[in-house]
Amino acid sequence: MGYSQLHGVAAGCGHRGCTAALAEIWWTAPNVVTWTRTVGTVVLCGAAIVAGDQLLLLAALLCYWVGDIADGLLARLSNRETRTGAVLDVLADRLCVCLVVVTYVTSHPAAILPAGTFLLQFVVLDASLTLAFRNWSLLSPNYFFLVDATVFRLNWSPVAKAINTGAVVLVVLLTGAMWLATLLALAVSGVKTYSMARLARLPVPATLSGCAVLDAHSAAAPARAPQA
Ligand SMILES: [Zn+2]
Repeated sequence: MGYSQLHGVAAGCGHRGCTAALAEIWWTAPNVVTWTRTVGTVVLCGAAIVAGDQLLLLAALLCYWVGDIADGLLARLSNRETRTGAVLDVLADRLCVCLVVVTYVTSHPAAILPAGTFLLQFVVLDASLTLAFRNWSLLSPNYFFLVDATVFRLNWSPVAKAINTGAVVLVVLLTGAMWLATLLALAVSGVKTYSMARLARLPVPATLSGCAVLDAHSAAAPARAPQA
């Protein structure tokens, strides 16, 4: 089945990332990968808690990271990106990251400040930003540049993704400098807050047309009353 048949892309739209398919199937291969890496992370985290083994916790973190890259890559390469898959991915990420971070903090209380700041940012600010793509006819946040280039660049470009989710964790694990990790988490929170404010000013389309560009255009320039 071709990409446009699968997603029912609006005729003539031509943008990759736009979708008219709002009701979708759950059992795509990328979604199976998402479920597998999520269950794997939860099981490894549980084993780490029971055994008190830091290596198992590291394995849980790697299972999440590698699996998160793999499901997204598989979805893009096989043209099986879906809105349900994007939402599943966002929710699975929050569960995995919360479990790993909270488990880590119980044995490393010194990390409470960067961990708390990071979780607030990731679970509340970043989650609501990431789910906002559903206000437009978008397949996922990876195509948010069709609506707003700045919010996209700050949050979902490859560099932004790496810094937003990985940097704080790496600074804690590699340097142990909690003040630096806290500062970094606060800086990311600042970027998220700015993005939220910018997002709040974006006009939201009343109906989804099947093309995110048309959605953004119709919301920005609502139909004017016919002139006499
Ligand atoms: Zn389009």
